[in-house]
Amino acid sequence: MTYPFVEGEPLVDRAVPDGPLAERWTRRRSTGRLVNPANRRKLDVIVVGSGLAGGSAAATLGELGYNVRCYCYQDSPRRAHSIAAQGGINAAKNYRNDGDSVERLFHDTIKGGDFRARESNVYRLAEVSVEIIDQCVAQGVPFAREYGGLLDTRSFGGAQVSRTFYARGQTGQQLLLGAYQALERQVNAGTVTMHTRHEMLDLIVVDGRARGIVVRDLTTGAVTADLADAVVLATGGYGNVFHLSTNAKGCNVTATWRAHRRGAYFANPCFTQIHPTCIPVSGDHQSKLTLMSESLRNDGRVWVPARAGDTRPPGAIPEEERDYFLERRYPAYGNLVPRDIASRAVKAVCDEGRGVGPGGRGVYLDFADALARLGRDTVAARYGNLFEMYERITGEDPYTAPMRIYPAVHYTMGGLWVDYDLQSTIPGLFVIGEANFSDHGANRLGASALMQGLADGYFVLPNTIGGYLADGPFPRVSPDDPAVASAVGEVRDRIERLLAVDGDRSVDSFHRELGRIMWDHCGMERTDAGLRKAIGEIRALREEFWTRVRVPGDGASLNQSLERAGRVADFFELAELMCVDALHRTESCGGHFRAESQTPDGEALRDDARFSYVAAWEYGSPPVLHKEELVFEHEKPTQRSYS
Ligand SMILES: Cc1cc2nc3c(=O)[nH]c(=O)nc-3n(C[C@H](O)[C@H](O)[C@H](O)COP(=O)(O)OP(=O)(O)OC[C@H]3O[C@@H](n4cnc5c(N)ncnc54)[C@H](O)[C@@H]3O)c2cc1C
Repeated sequence: MTYPFVEGEPLVDRAVPDGPLAERWTRRRSTGRLVNPANRRKLDVIVVGSGLAGGSAAATLGELGYNVRCYCYQDSPRRAHSIAAQGGINAAKNYRNDGDSVERLFHDTIKGGDFRARESNVYRLAEVSVEIIDQCVAQGVPFAREYGGLLDTRSFGGAQVSRTFYARGQTGQQLLLGAYQALERQVNAGTVTMHTRHEMLDLIVVDGRARGIVVRDLTTGAVTADLADAVVLATGGYGNVFHLSTNAKGCNVTATWRAHRRGAYFANPCFTQIHPTCIPVSGDHQSKLTLMSESLRNDGRVWVPARAGDTRPPGAIPEEERDYFLERRYPAYGNLVPRDIASRAVKAVCDEGRGVGPGGRGVYLDFADALARLGRDTVAARYGNLFEMYERITGEDPYTAPMRIYPAVHYTMGGLWVDYDLQSTIPGLFVIGEANFSDHGANRLGASALMQGLADGYFVLPNTIGGYLADGPFPRVSPDDPAVASAVGEVRDRIERLLAVDGDRSVDSFHRELGRIMWDHCGMERTDAGLRKAIGEIRALREEFWTRVRVPGDGASLNQSLERAGRVADFFELAELMCVDALHRTESCGGHFRAESQTPDGEALRDDARFSYVAAWEYGSPPVLHKEELVFEHEKPTQRSYS
């Protein structure tokens, strides 16, 4: 059997401290090299992205006294996709006294990620989680409170404790406003300069170090270089490679993909999270999907008719003719099993012909019991804005009829490979938030992305980047340096090339077709034959793209078709690597379900003997696979069970 890749040298994370797991982060902080405050003023750091990860990092680095320049493509940092996060943020505070602890959050996250994440990183994440809540409360983030005044929590999938802090159904928005305030404070203090409506289109590498970026001003079309001592990418996830996802329409892979082409390894690209509770696709006209937060599974019960082909309205189906399949199959966690498990269970009942709604691609999420038990006011206080959103989109009232939900692409666990210090394989290039691959293994638990983004931005990076910058300031790079001139030239040429095709097919039609290939073959279930077929189809479609795409307008002004064309061109290249990664990993784990590798009852079957590693891909034709072995000293990898 031939695979379209070659294998290179193994990869080792040399930044991770040794010693007892629980002491590693403290030791790293207390023994890492420091930059004294007077020297920080002489060091320039570029942060690309102003979502929760980038916004918190830029604010904190500014506060420390570095010269920070922060970029985003939106018209304001407040519009970063982080604003969409609904359900909450995890932290091992144990306010409920229900048995939570740093160790338990660590355990849940390692197990939830199907034993494909690093123990050291995850332990640090669990430790730092408690500091995040304090930081955000101090900023004035209005977390929900109980009657007595304590912060309230709720439960999320893959946990039997209640550790998710929330601000109604708008947690991301409130956290982002906190980070944004901190960022604007530094903008006012002069330590951070904010560049909105600028898109990073390449990374500048000089003498093996990341020394700057090439950006396009999206309103004037001007392409320029910005040079610095270090570059931080906080550019979010790439779920939009599937065209339809719960991500904001602008989310893309360009920044990380361009860095990958310059030498940064891309890790576990095939690890995609499919979220079980989204509003089902309603037709070909749609350009995005809407999430119904996992928090709804605290009180909503998931069911389908027990009999295939039962088309009665939900209210006419008596209790004994319903199948609450998550509660039946996973009694210990019930409706709060992790996302990968719930999504597959939903798909399975729909494949059996028991799905509801148009095309049978849906299951019920029913609040009748919760409404009877808690009353409408309490349910509205917890989920009111989500119910309203559902009604506005579907025209159905979830207070009187169950919601209909179906899985959709939501998050990408893969991303640029980073070491314990969050540094990529290019010295001086750091990657944080959803853009890196670091902490979630093969499946992220709900409410852990906000935790990771803010851990990276407020606490981890500001400490670890000092170890690198302590050797700076690095020799000044001249704007005329050949590496700068060639990166700028390549960006301009690519823009010209896209405009010059002048074909007859819209960017969106290509993106839609690419998304369908990815969903069919690299989505909830993957097979050897399907992935090989997908690689062939992606290559053919990419060729067609470069001969038929039509990009109206020019490059010297605001041109959203041109922006989208550049992003879709990068999605094509990423899509192929995702399929290669999925093809080579012949085990199932977390969100990566290979039909050939399942237990008799249809659960994901890992192959620890052969695949207990991070797959880090070096750019090339063919791509080169570097394996980073995963070592489990504290958690024993077992077949995950939520029953
Ligand atoms: C609908 C929805 C609900 C969610 N709810 C939750 C939840 O309740 N709890 C939870 O933990 N997680 C949740 N998540 C996941 C979570 O929101 C994200 O993983 C997280 O917010 C990502 O933050 P980030 O800072 O890494 O990236 P983002 O917030 O995506 O920010 C990316 C930034 O990078 C910039 N950028 C990107 N590319 C470029 C470029 N080339 N040039 C310049 N700038 C660029 C953008 O302008 C933006 O500022 C949810 C996700 C979705 C889709």
